[in-house]
Amino acid sequence: MLDDMVDYLEHIRQRPVWQPIPDVAREAFLASMPTQGRDLTEVHQQFMQQILPYAVGNAHPGFFGWVHGGGTPVGMLAEMLAAGLNANLGGRDQIPVEVERQLVRWMADLFEFPPYASGLFVTGSSMANMIAVLVARYHALGREVRSHGIPPKRQLVAYASAGAHGCIAQAMDLAGLGSTNLRKIPMNDRFQMCTSSLEVAITADRQAGLQPFFIAATAGTVDVGAIDEMPVIAAIAERNGLWFHVDGAYGALAMLSPALQPLLEGIELADSIACDFHKWGQVPYDAGFILVRDGVLHLETFSTPETYLRRDTRGMAAGSPWPCDFGPDLSRSFRALKTWFTFQVYGAERIGQAIHQTCVLARELAERVCAEPALELLAPVALNIVCFRVRHDGDVDGFNAALVADLQESGIAAPSLTTVRGKLAIRVAIVNHRTGRTDLDALMTAVLTYTHTTESA
Ligand SMILES: *Cc1c(COP(=O)(O)O)cnc(C)c1O
Repeated sequence: MLDDMVDYLEHIRQRPVWQPIPDVAREAFLASMPTQGRDLTEVHQQFMQQILPYAVGNAHPGFFGWVHGGGTPVGMLAEMLAAGLNANLGGRDQIPVEVERQLVRWMADLFEFPPYASGLFVTGSSMANMIAVLVARYHALGREVRSHGIPPKRQLVAYASAGAHGCIAQAMDLAGLGSTNLRKIPMNDRFQMCTSSLEVAITADRQAGLQPFFIAATAGTVDVGAIDEMPVIAAIAERNGLWFHVDGAYGALAMLSPALQPLLEGIELADSIACDFHKWGQVPYDAGFILVRDGVLHLETFSTPETYLRRDTRGMAAGSPWPCDFGPDLSRSFRALKTWFTFQVYGAERIGQAIHQTCVLARELAERVCAEPALELLAPVALNIVCFRVRHDGDVDGFNAALVADLQESGIAAPSLTTVRGKLAIRVAIVNHRTGRTDLDALMTAVLTYTHTTESA
């Protein structure tokens, strides 16, 4: 089984990125629960034939859809070790918890957070952003909010760019604050939050008797990779007494690259940062992370005094506070181990270089798009995402949508679609460390070839 997976990763370029799922493969998963076990070899064969070929393909260097990480063999092996150990990272006195705490310190150092900062592995940035909203809510309303909910006539209002990820609005919804109380601030021509509009919105809400409490800047928007002006936003948050959060789901780890680090200026001023190791960090899914400047506030937002979780100064119940005191999960997997192995084996510098390389490739691709009369670049390239479309007289959106489906079904390259200022865009997000120039050559050739065949059809 191990050999098969190593082979899969080693020869992945020879496979299609993705392929449509035949009915027989899909139907196999309608079978009911087996009462008797089968031979492991037989089950593994089914995995090889019916599961492995029909994954979304983000380990493939030709995968450019959405912002998905590529994973590594090291991460894969570490995940096997974690599963063998079957550690529950909710808490208790065990070295696996110390590994997670070490990662928290590494992240605090990386973002120049103080020693009293706290952090926690979570599923992904959707959860990390929600934890940030909850800590900020606690900060704004005090401990009463945990027992009594939102007091009447205290409407909390949050702010993010119109290009922010949908999970910020969802976090407002889940925190009981309402998704419409996230103000979506318009973007400037570089797709950054317009900071003068932000100030106007805060003032208007305050005058309307509402309580502004939270600003989420984005470091790497999911559509175009834009980075909000964090120093300016930090100053606005400071002046108005608001929580300054950074959704750095994929972009925050650009901090590992000396060449990219200056783009993240101001991130060190954040009250909290959400970030994913499973995107640019190349750690296998899932490995999200939340870092909070004020560890005490973070702890107070989540800790509960349940008797069965009693703490002691010795024995296995020592070592309080535990990871479960910093978030809603009690049982938790050992996500820190695959992240720890990734940093130990590759080193921060090499991970940073891989991140930088994806940005170099994106810039080159954007230059090729600009040089190609049939294509139109739809957004400036700040990091690793290139949005463009094929020029077309007539139904330009329909044409580009069909082209992306053709490309995906071809197995050659898999970009995705998004909408940029009302225009449907072919979105190429380069995240995978395996992606090189040849993969972009293949993408460009496929785009132009399919364009010609579709046009002449
Ligand atoms: C991916 C992403 C998210 C969501 O993170 P998950 O790990 O998928 O939950 C949030 N914000 C941004 C900017 C992202 O790129």
